[in-house]
Amino acid sequence: MEPADVTTLPEGAAEKLETAGVTEFYPPQAAAVEAGVADGKSVVAAVPTASGKTLIAELAMLSAIRRGGTALYVVPLRALAAEKKAEFERWNDLDVQVGVSTGNFDSDEEWLGSRDVIVATSEKVDSLIRNGAPWLDDLTCVVSDEVHLVDDPGRGPTLEVTLAKLRKINPGLQVVALSATVGNAGEVAEWLDAELVESDWRPIDLRTGVHYGNAVNFADGDQREVPVGSGEKPTAALVGDALDETDEADNRGSSLVFVNSRRNAETAASRLSEVTARRLTTGERNDLRELAAEIRDVSDTDTSDDLADCVANGAAFHHAGLASDHRSLVEEAFRDRLVKCICATPTLAAGVNTPARRVIVRDWRRYDGEFGGMQPLDTLEVHQMMGRAGRPGLDPYGEAVLLAKDRDTMDELFERYLWADPEPVESKLAAEPALRTHVLSTVASGFAGSRAGLVEFLDRTLYASQTDDDDRLGAVTDTVVDYLLANDFLEESDGTLTATGIGHTVSRLYLDPMSAAEMIDGLRRLDDDEEPAALGLYHLVSRTPDMYELYLKSGDRETFSEICYEREAELLGSTPSEFEDVAFEDWLSALKTAKLLEDWASELDEDRITERYGVGPGDIRGKVDTAEWLLGAAEELATELDLGVSLSVREAKRRVADGVREELLELTGIRGVGRVRARKLYEAGLETRAELREADKSAVLAALDGRRRTAESILENAGRRDPSMEGVSEESGGGEPTTFETAGDDGAPDTEVFGDEPEASEDGSQATFGDFG
Ligand code: ADP
Repeated sequence: MEPADVTTLPEGAAEKLETAGVTEFYPPQAAAVEAGVADGKSVVAAVPTASGKTLIAELAMLSAIRRGGTALYVVPLRALAAEKKAEFERWNDLDVQVGVSTGNFDSDEEWLGSRDVIVATSEKVDSLIRNGAPWLDDLTCVVSDEVHLVDDPGRGPTLEVTLAKLRKINPGLQVVALSATVGNAGEVAEWLDAELVESDWRPIDLRTGVHYGNAVNFADGDQREVPVGSGEKPTAALVGDALDETDEADNRGSSLVFVNSRRNAETAASRLSEVTARRLTTGERNDLRELAAEIRDVSDTDTSDDLADCVANGAAFHHAGLASDHRSLVEEAFRDRLVKCICATPTLAAGVNTPARRVIVRDWRRYDGEFGGMQPLDTLEVHQMMGRAGRPGLDPYGEAVLLAKDRDTMDELFERYLWADPEPVESKLAAEPALRTHVLSTVASGFAGSRAGLVEFLDRTLYASQTDDDDRLGAVTDTVVDYLLANDFLEESDGTLTATGIGHTVSRLYLDPMSAAEMIDGLRRLDDDEEPAALGLYHLVSRTPDMYELYLKSGDRETFSEICYEREAELLGSTPSEFEDVAFEDWLSALKTAKLLEDWASELDEDRITERYGVGPGDIRGKVDTAEWLLGAAEELATELDLGVSLSVREAKRRVADGVREELLELTGIRGVGRVRARKLYEAGLETRAELREADKSAVLAALDGRRRTAESILENAGRRDPSMEGVSEESGGGEPTTFETAGDDGAPDTEVFGDEPEASEDGSQATFGDFG
């Protein structure tokens, strides 16, 4: 079957696909077409990584648009939204407009209504529903990417409820769900009333095996000798071995190494860069040196330097703590075969299209906080990583290798990962924290108006279709409703449930009701006229379930207990007793986050912060964004409840958002002025907008290190009539500073060095709604 056979696509689409190399559909794609994916039918496609799922989605969306409808593409991670949008923009010349929803959780982004395809995370879609985005009613097609993540305790429930809400708003909605191969794809299809397309087909052969001793033992019975030298690590031997083998086009094999923590990714990359360095050509060495410089320019942190050092030698690490510019530079260089080896944590790399000839799953156990020790990864997850092996059209085949130290481990790995089927996906909706937020929003948005109505609505979820125990869902729903009544988020009279004013606000703000309750309680504890200290507010938002925790490392308990007692007066609420172990630990880890925010808002250097708290630059951005959102929410709650503390909340919010002390807030309000530039201007005596409008231009230029274009655009943004810097020289008399006119010196805020982080942390346990979108 070929594209021209699908008659429901917009004019020109088939030709475009053929030009892009799609002359023949892959078998799963043909099966999806036969199941009616291009005729508005709902389809669940459970097929391996890299077997062309995206095109199945595109066939559905394009044909929906041809019929006059609009499509929504739901991604699991925010980092993937921009990537998907860019991918779909190839349809722009067929007059298909693509939009990505990135706004705050409390907006309805009305402009998206004019787009044909909208890309968003499930958390974002959920919040758009809560805010009543009008265009949602007009959707005709929704695609859910990586739908097997309904199994994830953090993100799964939102995806499940969101799909149920969309289908209720729009009963004729076409649902296309893309899934990895899972144990119970049939159940997922049944839940969504969809046709099932299930296949093991891959565009390129995948050989899986276990390295033990001096050889890889493949599942098909073959062996490949990969000797490990004395003092050498098996991973190094495998990476070197792949690089030493060239294919017909004289290309050497690249490797993707999966490890279980960010730190391990960094250490492994540094070690493996010795392996790759020995195999580089002079040309590659030069190109890599340039790339390393580019990476160093992204941000002024140790992570940036470490990454640049590795990249200069042909290896890289990739994890959620990286800035998004770092990630895209690394991914692109890997696709261009310049970077030979990436060491990654699985969270993000699983979603990013970075195939390699050889995948090495070095760590198959990972720390599980709840369990309190190391736990083996799910088969599904390991299969997803292994599926990254083999680049169609580039490699002769893909190879995925696990590592064993002894024969018993080898046997276990064969059993557990090579011969086993992936697990079934199971709904995690019945957990209380998940239901708390979804029950409130379901009532607030009018999807249900009584306890029975709630149970009926929840009956549309995967959870309901998987359980025989109807009573259980009813019982947890009751507990949650009682909690929401007790906190005045819901009201019940004569069996009718309605959301209170504050309940509506909490739902619209996308807060976990427990976060809202915690914040309201903290603010109420203040005496009349008492202004809360910034640290107290940072601590308050940091102890809500919407702020994912920073763990206490060894020594932290002492450090933060001390800070806690020193500054107790600034905290809102009372410190739990040291003997209440769990509560006290939570209090201290919230304080650790609060201190990070305070350091950031006191203009401490970014690299000092990453060092002090053991986090990456992307993590700082994640915390800052979450704090800004929660403080904004606290401000609204305080206003609505007449608590009279909004001014200090607003100031704390602005300081943390801009990362500056109070006196710089006016300057950072000017576009193009970030925390570093604001401080430089301030120190040069330029403290306000008005002063910038009147100032001696050479003084402005000197304060901005002679960067002319920056100076001009800042002056313009400050409202100066004649911002031109022509003929102006620096006050300090440094002559013509042409050397300062570097690329990227375009007036962008100088703090903008972060990615759009974070998604879930590596152990997957810290995910909260606040971290997505
Ligand atoms: P998945 O989403 O299943 O991981 P992708 O949709 O990213 O896989 O597809 C992997 C690659 O295969 C992409 O580069 C895509 O352009 C290419 N591809 C998909 N379908 C076809 C086809 N029918 N013919 C040729 N190439 C295809």
